[in-house]
Amino acid sequence: MFDAIVVGAGPAGTTTARLLAQNGFKVLLIEKENLPRAKLCAGAVSLRANSYLPKDWENAVLNTVYGGNLGFKGENYLSARCDKPVVKIVDRRSFDLYLTLKAKDEGVIVREGEAFVNFHSLRGDFTEVVTTKGVYKTKYLIGADGALSKVLRALGVKRKTFLVCEALVETRIGNMDEVFIDLGLVKWGYAWIFPHGEELVSVGIASLKREEKNLKHLLKEYIETHPLLAGKKIRSLRGWFLAPSRGELLTGEGNIFLVGEASGSVDALLGEGIYYSVWQAHLLAECLKDENPRRCYSQNLRTLKREFLFGYLTGFLAYNFQRFMFKNAKKEDLKEFFEFLRGEKTYGDLFRYGVKRFVSSLFKF
Ligand SMILES: Cc1cc2nc3c(=O)[nH]c(=O)nc-3n(C[C@H](O)[C@H](O)[C@H](O)COP(=O)(O)OP(=O)(O)OC[C@H]3O[C@@H](n4cnc5c(N)ncnc54)[C@H](O)[C@@H]3O)c2cc1C
Repeated sequence: MFDAIVVGAGPAGTTTARLLAQNGFKVLLIEKENLPRAKLCAGAVSLRANSYLPKDWENAVLNTVYGGNLGFKGENYLSARCDKPVVKIVDRRSFDLYLTLKAKDEGVIVREGEAFVNFHSLRGDFTEVVTTKGVYKTKYLIGADGALSKVLRALGVKRKTFLVCEALVETRIGNMDEVFIDLGLVKWGYAWIFPHGEELVSVGIASLKREEKNLKHLLKEYIETHPLLAGKKIRSLRGWFLAPSRGELLTGEGNIFLVGEASGSVDALLGEGIYYSVWQAHLLAECLKDENPRRCYSQNLRTLKREFLFGYLTGFLAYNFQRFMFKNAKKEDLKEFFEFLRGEKTYGDLFRYGVKRFVSSLFKF
């Protein structure tokens, strides 16, 4: 018998479990894989996640990013740098294991290699949770099981997901403290090159348009023709799913709550999910202490939803006018973006800035 069962040991599940245990809950965290497990992800954690992560999370960091290069089809790049860090790059195997151990330290019981199968509502507000290895009783069931959430499906909800492809390529890019973003390759999306440690880069393509079916092929072509990547060894090339939000979030029903990507906590401009998952975990954990957790959760999610809406609107501007936006982009625009990633600006600020810049570029004033 548990106060809460959390399904999924990603950033959302481990953070929710840790915070609930700190609040005195008896928590079971179940993860279908054995840890450490791989998770397809470029591993970029924007600095604004700092306040939602344990204090020593930087021990799990591979690279610190101080600058960025915005390009068009791998050709010209507009570059800018910052004195302060903008983004940290983590390896998801060790980062998620680190977060799980932090949860364990707070008294969370962790069962790895055990998958959630289904749930049944019982009388008296309890839920019976069936896994591949047992049956448990809990007050709250929390689905933090990612883009293809089984908890979400057990609730009878279907939703759209999008394929994102990532390759690990054996090479260096400069001092390995900058990222490269390329527009012009896909509709509603971009290609990236992020440093991963000393001699490895993560290269990927994401598109939130269903027509971009042949992403793996596009990614291979991008690697083979890019001046920094051509001829380098591709260690792996795989695809996984993304469930971004346009301002809405799925929250579950009754005493079953969703958090992280299971809930749709990924922004539609960048495909960033780690920061939003840990932020949302804090909002949920706070509400499970409340006398009306569902009402509290929906109130708490208002700011997060507004961010996703403005993220989507910024994406609308950036991706529908990719050539125009790139041609008119200036160093100051990248710096504005860095401030946003550092948590000094919101998506609302970024959208308003984008509209101003769009209009001034259009009329050349
Ligand atoms: C290619 C790619 C690149 C990305 N790059 C970035 C990036 O650079 N920065 C960023 O912020 N975001 C990135 N994202 C998004 C980010 O990976 C996700 O948004 C984030 O991992 C969501 O965290 P989560 O905890 O909600 O879910 P997840 O990290 O997906 O964790 C869910 C966990 O649940 C487990 N699970 C699933 N089903 C079950 C079950 N039935 N029973 C038990 N356990 C189960 C899974 O094994 C997994 O461990 C990327 C995504 C993709 C696909």
